Amino acid sequence: MSRVFNFSAGPSMLPVPVLEKCASDMMDYNGSGMSVMEMSHRSPVYEEIIAAAEASLRKLMNIPDNYKVLFLQGGASTQFAAVPLNLIGRTGKADYIVSGQFSGKAFKEAQKMGYDVKCIATSKDTNFDRIPVVTKDMISPDASYVHICFNNTIYGTKYGYIPDTGDVPLVADMSSCIISEPVDVSKFGVIYAGAQKNMAPAGVTLVIVREDLLEYGDPKMPSMLDWKLMAENGSMYNTPPCYSIYVAGLVYEWILGMGGLDVMKEKNEKKAALLYDYLDSQDYYIAPVQKDSRSMMNVTFVTGVEELDKKFPKEATAAGLVNLKGHRSVGGMRASIYNAMPYEGVEKLVEFMKEFAKNNPKA
Ligand SMILES: *Cc1c(COP(=O)(O)O)cnc(C)c1O
Repeated sequence: MSRVFNFSAGPSMLPVPVLEKCASDMMDYNGSGMSVMEMSHRSPVYEEIIAAAEASLRKLMNIPDNYKVLFLQGGASTQFAAVPLNLIGRTGKADYIVSGQFSGKAFKEAQKMGYDVKCIATSKDTNFDRIPVVTKDMISPDASYVHICFNNTIYGTKYGYIPDTGDVPLVADMSSCIISEPVDVSKFGVIYAGAQKNMAPAGVTLVIVREDLLEYGDPKMPSMLDWKLMAENGSMYNTPPCYSIYVAGLVYEWILGMGGLDVMKEKNEKKAALLYDYLDSQDYYIAPVQKDSRSMMNVTFVTGVEELDKKFPKEATAAGLVNLKGHRSVGGMRASIYNAMPYEGVEKLVEFMKEFAKNNPKA
């Protein structure tokens, strides 16, 4: 068996101890005589799995009691529609900050549905190389919510602060930074995240919502998008994504076992610093993101020469460092270094970058 260092933006690496536990549980989970994939979601053994996953997440993120935790289907993209359907009834309007492709999609989805939504800040003019500055006076006081994307997976940017939106609830897409470091959940009305970046296999989407925000849903919305209905049914209005929830639970336990999100953050900072320090120490590679907006999870860089940008991911793959090709809208390279990426993987990457620069001088 040989495993590569997988820098994919998602689906992405899972922790080896979690994969090993999945393998050992596969044929007979805990004496049930079946795998978690095969069991009824209404069975006591599965009810225990989903309850344990929620309890672990609550502990890990220190989620206050007045927040509901939902495990849903449809990916983060489905939440682009669910957010206005559940919340805009508060005042009939909403504000969006567009800091990249996914927040742009969220904004467009709400527009397409005919809602009165406004983009109050964007960094589009500089190809999303930074997080736009957001101050309290920019927020519409009568907005139902303000929507942001906390970490921009494609561009490699992240909010270095939590925007102060006053009494207007803040809604954050945290798909690519969830459980990478502690966050103060009480500063947000809603946090949502697709699981396949940092939590689990694809298939489950996490929604953490403050209870008082469950009162504004559009009565005509599809049941599957209705947070209140899902909360009343413990995420089991219909069949939940059972196996992905089970893996998510194992990932939460893995982090709790190492000491929680403070420890996770320290590890992630060390990995990101190794890569950014190298990028800042040389001029062969260019890191396009403004320093104060740098992501700890997705690190983008280019050589500035098209052929070399093409050659890099190919040769890296041959060296066991895979999925380093950047998103087509940025070009160049992107290293996604989520929780499960070991420090050693980033060390190998930096060594490879040095070798590549030496062997491929620019004309
Ligand atoms: C990947 C990603 C999405 C899209 O997630 P899906 O689960 O594929 O719908 C949305 N937002 C962010 C920040 C992402 O990284």
